[in-house]
Amino acid sequence: MSKPITDLVQIDRLGTKKLKENELFRRHLKRHNFSDLRFRRVAEEIEEQVDCRACANCCKVAETDITQRDATRISRAMGMSEAEFVGKYTTASAFDDEMILRRTETGCIFLSGNDCTIYEDRPDTCRNFPHLVRGKGSIESRMWQMIDRATYCPIVYNSLEAYKDIVGFQRTPSKG
Ligand code: SF4
Ligand code: SF4
Repeated sequence: MSKPITDLVQIDRLGTKKLKENELFRRHLKRHNFSDLRFRRVAEEIEEQVDCRACANCCKVAETDITQRDATRISRAMGMSEAEFVGKYTTASAFDDEMILRRTETGCIFLSGNDCTIYEDRPDTCRNFPHLVRGKGSIESRMWQMIDRATYCPIVYNSLEAYKDIVGFQRTPSKG
């Protein structure tokens, strides 16, 4: 496998250019029955080659869902009541009204530079992100979320490209 692309400007450009192709790829996976285990292993190999702590792009651009269980753990670690934590650090998502972490102009409220200030206690979704190696259900069932993630997450972009090679997916010819 070739070295993954990690430059975020390139990932944005390529992932955006391939939005339509990746949607076609999602439909292709839906129509066939490919090995989830193989996909997970490939994502794992790519994940090992990408330094998430140097990237932190998901913390900068994506909303972070937070569960009650996360709120209990983090508030305890921060030495405050759960109600205080929820009021101070969470808000409702504009998309689905679910509880998410508040954001600043640079990303998640707990992001400092590229570091997570609650790393040891971070929400489960942050531990499992981008949900290719770890996640409920098949990768095919989570593909609808990966099309957008491929525009900002090097692990997702490179994994989708590797999957296309594995299954022999006919890519959209690039213009120019
Ligand atoms: S809690 Fe930490 S890991 Fe999760 S999005 Fe915020 S800064 Fe990133
Ligand atoms: S999960 Fe993706 S976007 Fe987030 S830090 Fe790792 S490579 Fe970057």
